[in-house]
Amino acid sequence: MSYVDEVYQRVVDRNPGEPEFHQAVKEVLDSLKIVIDKNEDKYRKAGLLERLTEPERIISFRVPWVDDEGKVQINKGYRVQFNSAIGPYKGGLRFHPSVNQSILKFLGFEQILKNSLTGLPMGGGKGGSDFDPKGKSDREVMAFCQSFMTELCKHIGANTDVPAGDIGVGGREIGFLFGQYKRITKLYEGVLTGKGLSFGGSLVRTQATGYGLIYILVEMLKAAGKELAGQTVVISGSGNVAIYAAEKAQQLGAKVVALSDSNGYVYDPEGIQLDIVKDIKEVKRGRIKEYADAVASAQYTAGKGIWTIPCDITLPCATQNKLDLEDAKALKANGCFMVAEGANMPSTREATDFFQENGIVFMPGKAANAGGVATSGLEQSQNSLRLSWTFEEVDERLKGIMKDIFAKVNDAANRYDVPGNYVAGANIAGFEKVADAMLAQGIC
Ligand code: GLU
Repeated sequence: MSYVDEVYQRVVDRNPGEPEFHQAVKEVLDSLKIVIDKNEDKYRKAGLLERLTEPERIISFRVPWVDDEGKVQINKGYRVQFNSAIGPYKGGLRFHPSVNQSILKFLGFEQILKNSLTGLPMGGGKGGSDFDPKGKSDREVMAFCQSFMTELCKHIGANTDVPAGDIGVGGREIGFLFGQYKRITKLYEGVLTGKGLSFGGSLVRTQATGYGLIYILVEMLKAAGKELAGQTVVISGSGNVAIYAAEKAQQLGAKVVALSDSNGYVYDPEGIQLDIVKDIKEVKRGRIKEYADAVASAQYTAGKGIWTIPCDITLPCATQNKLDLEDAKALKANGCFMVAEGANMPSTREATDFFQENGIVFMPGKAANAGGVATSGLEQSQNSLRLSWTFEEVDERLKGIMKDIFAKVNDAANRYDVPGNYVAGANIAGFEKVADAMLAQGIC
């Protein structure tokens, strides 16, 4: 059995009941095979893949809080500190009822390679809770965040582990978490990113994942001899990533015709009006269905089906495993030629294989959505400098990082004779830096 297959089997055996984690590891290891086979002795001797697939530390804790009825609620809290070879752990916190250890391990594992691709000194981590902020009052969210941070603050710090937002964790939650961290530790430091602008946040952080997705998409289009202007784009999701991907795509002349949430999707052949979406999602914290109530040209459909809308480009920006083989086939049949993932692992393995086997240009999330964490890295830099850069300055750096990621991914794919295979390119380029650092640091 090859080293890669041995390690994958070990991961499955030792992490029972964690299908998302297995899926993420398998996708990465499969494409690393061409690298590992060439250097098998070196990596095997150092137990490199066994170490890479085992988190350095997982913290799991109880989060008790009191709801508006005076009832005691208990949630699960976690932080997976996966790999610190190239920098302090870095990665978001997800608050969503689906959160469990498998999902956080898959996200933390992906984050190692994603953060490496940004070129910034950030290790990989992820955390969160099965708490659902949806429908909770601001006071309940604050009570939860304070309790969550009361435990988490013992394990994080500006030079140790720097969490940020993810699904269910935005500016409001980061504010409450930061306040509690400062209150307990006495430290006013860049321990979280995605902070408000009045207390150390960075301009562009809100837009960064979505904007970065479009910046790398532009590079993909360029390499294919195409441009974004005039293309019809379908985006799933309607959170932060989807909204700002749509905004930048529109600024560059594309037509965005659909958005979705976990209940259904809206199709607006005239082009989505983002001011209305922002009001629904960012101000009222409402559902995407309300868009169709407000706009005559739009139509709402409950349930799945967003991938049956004809388009040129698809940007899955919702959550994991929401685009399957059948969806991929429908996209192909309707003329889609390019897919870039704004979310983490939104396409199933079968779907990504189908894209690649059928000539659809595909950029995996760990490269395509790295603009968010990259700008978090820029927020850390500004915090360390005690300075704030202008919007244009941060945006230019973000653009440069996304261009650089595309170049690295493309180069790795070419070096290993799989041109255009951006899945392999991203995994290889991300892995090389981490592996180098791990080998240099000895067995730890
Ligand atoms: N949650 C985002 C991600 O998946 C951002 C993480 C961060 O900024 O640390 O990359």
